[in-house]
Amino acid sequence: MTRRILLVEDEQDIAELAALHLEDLCDDVHIANDGNDGLRLALSQDWALIVLDLRLPGVDGLEICRRVRRERQYQPILMLTSKSSELDRVLGLESGADDYLTKPFSVLELAARARAILRRVDALRGAPVAEPDSGAIAAGPVSIDPSRREVTLHGESVELTAREFDLLEHLARHPGRVFRRSDLLDQVWGYGHEGYEHTVNSHINRLRAKIEPDPSHPSMIVTVWGVGYKFAAALQ
Ligand code: CA
Repeated sequence: MTRRILLVEDEQDIAELAALHLEDLCDDVHIANDGNDGLRLALSQDWALIVLDLRLPGVDGLEICRRVRRERQYQPILMLTSKSSELDRVLGLESGADDYLTKPFSVLELAARARAILRRVDALRGAPVAEPDSGAIAAGPVSIDPSRREVTLHGESVELTAREFDLLEHLARHPGRVFRRSDLLDQVWGYGHEGYEHTVNSHINRLRAKIEPDPSHPSMIVTVWGVGYKFAAALQ
C-alpha cells in the first residue's frame, strides 16, 4: 500500500524543507498551500499522516483538525503551532491532534515525530506489550501497591481507573525519566491499542486531579514542555 503524507502549510520555505525530510518516511508528500485545499484533500484521499499548520489562509488548522477527526477518527495528525499561546489553544480545545510541534522547530524533530506516529500506526496491528512487575512503590505522599492494585495518598485510599493506575505505576517506577506521549501509549496502553496522544493528556489530567495537592501546578506528574511527562524524582 502506498504511504502518503499530506502537508498543509502556507509558508513555502517551511513546506519545502519539511517535505524534503518527510519524503524519507513515505512514498509521496503532497503540499497544500491553504486551508481550503488542505481540508478538501484531507477528507477526499487516504493519508498515512496529515501535518497541519495552525495558521492558514482559508480554513484554519484547528478547524481542519476537528473536521477530519469527526469523519476519520483514527487519522494521524501532527499539528504545527507558532507560539505557546497557540499550543494552549490546541491542547485546551482538545482538537484531537496526535502530536504537535511549536515553531520554530527543527526539521529533524519534525521527521522524528512523524516517524514515531507512523511507527505507532504500524504497531497498532501488533500484539499488546505486557510489562509485569511487582513490589510496592513509595513516592512522597503516594504509595502504590501493584499486587493489590491500590493507591493511597497520605494513607487514604485513592480510587483510580485501571488505566490511571497503570499510568501512575509506570511513571512512578521510573522517577525522573521523561516519557513522550507516544512512549506512554506504547508502554502503558500497549501496542495494538487504538489510542492517540490526546488520550494520554486527558488521563494525566484526571490522574493529577486525584493525587496532586494543586492539580493546576503539578508537583508529582510534571509536564516537560515539547517532550512529555515525568514523575518528579525528588519525591523518592
Ligand atoms: Ca502558516
